[in-house]
Parts: sequence; C-alpha cells; structure tokens
Amino acid sequence: MAGLPLPGPALTQSRDLPAGGPPVPDQVRNVLSTLWAAGHEAWVVGGALRDWLAGRRIGSERWDLATDAQPPRLLGIFPGSGYTNRFGTVLIAGVEVTTFRRDHRYGDHRRPDQVTFTDSLAEDLVRRDFTVNAIAWGRRAGDQEERWVDPTDGIADVRARVLRAVGDPAVRFDEDALRLLRGARIAAQAGLTVDPATAAAMTAHAHDVRYVSVERIGQELRRMVQASPPSAAFRILADTGLLEHLVPGLAAQRGLIQDKIPGHDLWDHSLATLDALEDPSPGDERVRLAALLHDIGKPETFIDGHFPGHDQAGARIATDLLARLAFPGRDVSYVARLIRWHMFSYESAWSDAALRRFMVRVGTDLVDDLLLLRRADNVGSGLAPDAGRLAELRGRIAADRLARHPLAMADLAVDGQDIMRALGREPGPWLGQLLARLLDSVVADPARNTPEVLLASARAWASPAHERAASATVRSE
Ligand code: ATP
Ligand code: MG
Repeated sequence: MAGLPLPGPALTQSRDLPAGGPPVPDQVRNVLSTLWAAGHEAWVVGGALRDWLAGRRIGSERWDLATDAQPPRLLGIFPGSGYTNRFGTVLIAGVEVTTFRRDHRYGDHRRPDQVTFTDSLAEDLVRRDFTVNAIAWGRRAGDQEERWVDPTDGIADVRARVLRAVGDPAVRFDEDALRLLRGARIAAQAGLTVDPATAAAMTAHAHDVRYVSVERIGQELRRMVQASPPSAAFRILADTGLLEHLVPGLAAQRGLIQDKIPGHDLWDHSLATLDALEDPSPGDERVRLAALLHDIGKPETFIDGHFPGHDQAGARIATDLLARLAFPGRDVSYVARLIRWHMFSYESAWSDAALRRFMVRVGTDLVDDLLLLRRADNVGSGLAPDAGRLAELRGRIAADRLARHPLAMADLAVDGQDIMRALGREPGPWLGQLLARLLDSVVADPARNTPEVLLASARAWASPAHERAASATVRSE
C-alpha cells in the first residue's frame, strides 16, 4: 500500500463524516466480509485509515482491523493465521486483527500488565493513543452498511490537522512511553501539528523515553526519516526535549551557528539536508539517516570556527548510536561510510585513474548515495544542488561504468589460485597483499587487466629481492 497517492475523502455526509469508505485493499475486505458473515463486528482502524483521512500517502505497512471475535475464534475462522504478539493480535493474510480490549495498569511505562477483552468498540477506541487513531470504519454483523465511529472526534482533528492524545495527555504518556515517539512520527506522517496540551505532556515525560526498547526506538526513527517532510518529526523531538535523550549529538547542534544560510544553525542545516534528499530508494533509510547525521561530529570537533575531522568523528558517533539502537551491522557501516566520505571534494583535473581510485576508496556500492547526500548537503547549505561540479562527476562516473573497467578483486583477470600456481607458492598473507597491489595497478590502468600482464607483475612483485626491497622501504618510512 505504501506509495499509493490518495485524495482526501469528501467530507459531505451528515455529522461531517466522510462519504464513502476508505480504499480498502481486496485482502482486507475479504477478512472484513468473512468476519461479518461469521456474525462478528469488524472495523478498519489505525494508521492506514488515519493517513488516508489526512489525504496522505498511506504510510502503514499494514491495515489494522478491530473485532469482537476473540483470538481463538479468529484462529478457527481463518486457518493458517497466527498470533503476532502475546496480547492476542492475529495476523490474517497480512492484516493485523485485534480483539476489542480495555487496557489495565501499565506497570513499566510501556506495556499494559494485562489486557481484558470487551465487546464494546467504543471502549476499545478510547484506550487508543491519539484521537486520529481512535476512528473506526466498518459494521456490526447485522448492519446493512458500513459506517464511521468516532467517539473522540478524531475526524475533526484530522481535518484541523491536530494530533491530540485521547483523554488526559499526561496520563497517556505516563502509561506508555512509546506514545512519545509514535506521536512525533504520526504527526509528521500525517502532516499534523501537536496540540499544545499534548506537546506539553510530551515535554514533561520526555525522559520516560528510556523505558522504550532500543529496537523500537530504532524502528520509529527509521519511519521518521521517511515522513514527508521528515524534518517535521525531528522538530517535534527537538521541541519536546526528546531529542536530547535519543540523539544528544543532534540536540547539541542547536544554536551552533555556521556561516551557510543566514539565520540557520547547524541543526537547521541537518534538517534542511534531510528534507532536500531526492529519490533515495524507497524503503531504504540509510542515506536518509546519513543526511540527518552527516554533521553529528561537528559539535565535538568545533574549534575556532572550524570542525576539523568532523567527518571521521561523525562516522564514529553514528556507528555508536546506530549500533546501540540495534540497527543491523551492514546498515550501521553503510551509514557510517557515507558520513566518513561526505566531505569529498571533486576537481575537473582528476584523471580517469583518480576518478576510479575515488570510487574504489569510498566503495563502488556507496557512490550513488554519496552523490545524493552531497546534493542534499549543497541544498541544505544554500548552494546550487550540483555545486562542486557534481553533475560533471556524475557524468564521468556513468561513463566509467559503461566502460566496465575493473574496480574490484573479482574483476581481475587472474585469481589467487592462478597466482599460486604460477608462482608455485603456498597461500599466505603475501597473496592478499599482492592481489590488492594488482588491483591498484589495474584501477590506475585498466589495459593491464590481462592474465599475461598481471602474472608478469605478480612474478616481479613477489620475488624475494623485490619483497626485501619493499619491506626495507616500509621500515625506513
Ligand atoms: P502504523 O501502522 O503506521 O505504525 P498505527 O497507528 O496503525 O500506525 P499500529 O501499531 O499498527 O500503529 O497500531 C494500530 C492502532 O492501535 C493505532 O492506530 C492505535 O489506535 C492503537 N495503538 C497502537 N499502539 C498504541 C499504543 N502504544 N498506545 C495506544 N494505542 C496504540
Ligand atoms: Mg498500523
């Protein structure tokens, strides 16, 4: 469903409810119809409904349904379905179906200690976090038509573009600290402003974010960088004080002036860069995270108006942060590498060999995203998007790719086996070093990539006399 551009619904019916229903995908409609036919209530609730009412791209991966059918009954009606959590939510053909419930005491500021099922939709709706999430569309078993149920006036809030906690905001955030993050993310996704009382309660409870698991924080951050504009989510985090607890290095950017865009501090620059990213692969948050974090090394390296080594410091800080938030290692290192190399400076005078060395040094897998990041960084700095001859660099990289020049070990015309055979030597550290040197020579001059030339070089470079000379040079350096 992600990516579906949807017009907002016409709000013409009496009581100002949307005429017609949401664009429910077939598999969701099937689940609804099956439940109705089995004599149950079934309602669409949650994120997909909210985002559609807000006229936004439906950002939820899943449609959520609520029903009076209890979990064992759901498993019986839908063979092949199974539980997604210990609270009895059932996943049916990709649709999350949750039995009406009322929540109880929240002992750990995170999850209710127990839940009790109820057969009242209204009761189920008012235990939800925000009014825009407490809306239902569907029907009871006996009803002829679908209808809207909106006990907390969530539809009016969507229309007024307000995110408001259901009930007493302080109580709701105290119960469950995850709502702090959900609030910032949902407001950004749906284009809502946080109601002042809700914002005040978020601020008062900001420190409770420590009760949220690192995995969950990471998951919410991934979704925030994908909101449009993503800065909206991070402005809320900053304004409520949540940012200081989540990413102190970014909070420290506030008020740090740099001479890029007049009136912008470093934090404004980070957000402007994030918002300026164009066309990163959908669902891939790595370059977005890199845009957000690219200058996170600046506060701690600031000296005399400069930020020496902030790229390396930033890569280190981002690695610590993302690893702590349980991001997969390959994502952590990808983001860190983007930050490490974001300060590259291209010149027209680069030879083709220099161009290829650049691509190999930063990583051929990274180059496109690195250029996307630079483009956004340019815009966020008040420069033309392609400042620094970015278009020229992009063109030269494309041309070099078309020529399919060797850029990796795997592209070499010989492999380790060939070399060992030709030299009659056992494997050892010498082999990796030799291969790396052969690759360097081929990156500089692709015409060298033939078995004859490479084996000749291998013989020369691996000869004992040559190795002695090489290590003597190293020692004298
Ligand atoms: P998304 O699916 O985009 O994360 P969502 O609002 O649908 O957004 P879900 O986790 O799918 O989030 O939850 C579905 C619904 O359950 C929410 O819309 C809300 O009504 C309710 N809900 C989810 N988490 C909470 C919570 N922590 N506290 C109160 N209600 C919640
Ligand atoms: Mg959902």
